[in-house]
Amino acid sequence: MTSPLHLLQHVFGYHAFRGEQAAIVDHLIGGGDALVLMPTGGGKSLCYQIPALARPGCGVVVSPLIALMQDQVDQLKELGVAAAFLNSTLSLEESREIEQAFLGGQLKLLYVAPERAVTPRFQRLLQQANIALFAIDEAHCVSQWGHDFRPEYLALSVLADAYPGIPRIALTATADHATQAEIIDKLRLESASQFVASFDRPNLRYTIVEKKTSKDQLLTFLRREHEGDSGIVYCLSRKRVEATAEWLRSKEIRALPYHAGLDADVRARNQNIFLREEGVVMVATIAFGMGIDKPDVRFVAHLDLPKSIENYYQETGRAGRDGLPADAWLAYGLNDVIQLTNMIEASGAPEEQKDVERRKLEAMLGLCETTACRRQTLLGYFGEEARPCGNCDNCLNPPQLTDMTEAARKALSCVYRTGNRFGVGHLVDVLQGKLTDKVREFMHQQVSTFGIGKELDEASWRAVFRQLLARGALRVSPEGHGGLELAEAAKPILRGEVPLYRRARIEKFHYHDKNAEF
Ligand code: ADP
Ligand code: ZN
Repeated sequence: MTSPLHLLQHVFGYHAFRGEQAAIVDHLIGGGDALVLMPTGGGKSLCYQIPALARPGCGVVVSPLIALMQDQVDQLKELGVAAAFLNSTLSLEESREIEQAFLGGQLKLLYVAPERAVTPRFQRLLQQANIALFAIDEAHCVSQWGHDFRPEYLALSVLADAYPGIPRIALTATADHATQAEIIDKLRLESASQFVASFDRPNLRYTIVEKKTSKDQLLTFLRREHEGDSGIVYCLSRKRVEATAEWLRSKEIRALPYHAGLDADVRARNQNIFLREEGVVMVATIAFGMGIDKPDVRFVAHLDLPKSIENYYQETGRAGRDGLPADAWLAYGLNDVIQLTNMIEASGAPEEQKDVERRKLEAMLGLCETTACRRQTLLGYFGEEARPCGNCDNCLNPPQLTDMTEAARKALSCVYRTGNRFGVGHLVDVLQGKLTDKVREFMHQQVSTFGIGKELDEASWRAVFRQLLARGALRVSPEGHGGLELAEAAKPILRGEVPLYRRARIEKFHYHDKNAEF
């Protein structure tokens, strides 16, 4: 048998295994089952490709991502590996040919879509073929609570009994413990060895800024740091994707839009340009990116807040897969939080799930508001301990802290005195003692908190409110309209039991261009 290292070097042209790859490969070749948790870009594919080549028979890979399947098969063929896929893009005749090759022992790797894998026809084929291993990619799709749930994945449990001697490997980049347990249970991997790689991406530099004029902030970031680089800009809505792409083009940046509302051929064309050419900025909704393997993406920028740390991690993880320095840049504001909260409330999901989503959003906001190391906070969320990294905005440029305990108490009592229902704009007007129409309408000039906050400007007050939201002292009212109400963590703050700090506002950059002012 050819050794795994020999295969790695002579078939794939890589020098050495990365991280856990060698251990996983050995384990599979020895006939063991495995559950692999490895971040996107970590190198999951080799974990089953090499054992498939080393063992007799063909490796069968279940993968839900058609585009990725195609790419991988193309790459494998280029390396001289007999690989093929079975999915809905093939004609009947093409499918039959591949089935024959599979049965005839002419394939070393066969990728198959889950809906195809569970058909009786394919199950019969399996029984007649010589199989090296089963790989179940994107294994979190088996989780009924996740966003990517694929019912066909549940039927893959039959493999355990039907092929007891053949190793199975499940792979995912989704980390949390509940999903892990579900994968083991649903795919019958009780005796599988688990391989958990670190989620750290040391070459990514994390930067999170307060949203002001976000498009200008983005442009400045692109011009300063990423002239001529390939990158992705994520926006929440399709409309914003198109507006941003167009605007960047007007500034002579080569930007293309991508979202699910565009025609399939436009999407495919834009994706191809992005993959094949240099220096293209893809402006996209999160519909873009799953399974995209472009190693030299130099930045991922978010113009809107992702709805969870998992999302943020996945999306930023598309930058710097080649291991060279890359940027994860995010601009966020209070309105993002309100908008995302409204989306959760309007989703019609069961209350349990809404609650999970609210907590995820709160954690994301916590990451934005933290004055500690971003990486430490991020990895801590995934249960991993880390030291301050030296490669995030907070480490590189430690924020100056000012005590805002008193301001926080004023803000909370203002929310309370005005009846737990107004949005930030109005609350700040009341604190600053502005006699607006709305203040008069509700006679808020008479509440005790009117005008008690003249010492801070509007931006500072907004920062205070964001912190209070991030800490769970306030929440966005489920009623909609962006009203704020007191939440559990408000009490100790009102009683003055916990001190609060906020980042002093230091303007790092100065602009001469009036239109590009922060
Ligand atoms: P994942 O599926 O975990 O997102 P991939 O398997 O697509 O990751 O690998 C990501 C990139 O890293 C690919 O371009 C792959 O060729 C490369 N890669 C994987 N393992 C190694 C290795 N041992 N040495 C060098 N490059 C590797
Ligand atoms: Zn850091």
